[in-house]
Amino acid sequence: MAIRDIVKDGEEILRKKSRVVTQFDSKLARILDDMFETMKLNRGVGLAAPQIGYMRRFAICEMTDGTKVELINPVVIESKGEEILEEGCLSVPDKHCNVIRPNYLMLKYQDRKGKTHERLFEGYDARVCCHEMDHLDGILFYDKEVSE
Ligand SMILES: [Zn+2]
Repeated sequence: MAIRDIVKDGEEILRKKSRVVTQFDSKLARILDDMFETMKLNRGVGLAAPQIGYMRRFAICEMTDGTKVELINPVVIESKGEEILEEGCLSVPDKHCNVIRPNYLMLKYQDRKGKTHERLFEGYDARVCCHEMDHLDGILFYDKEVSE
């Protein structure tokens, strides 16, 4: 495994839309493993592929119970509710702001083997998933800043 450099705000690729993952191979597995290592080292709870300069639709998230999820080609099936909470981002080290997110999020996504899953994420877990999925469309958390 290797630690990857995290792309910082101001670099254009963070604003681009990532492409669908079509190859579920050892290269994808290696990038995912590197992303977990990189996220852990930087004490983050999520990391999206564009943040390491890889423009494909996947991200990793750490849940509040400590388990980890790999979201590959994630799609929102249903989202409900709203909650305002402060967020930050490993690509935007100096900024924190309040963002509205759904607190109920049903997602469909694939794992590193290409197997499809459907899963409900709630509360903070839903927030982390939304934040990481936004990266896949070139959206940063402060684009959605709200005042309390
Ligand atoms: Zn982020």
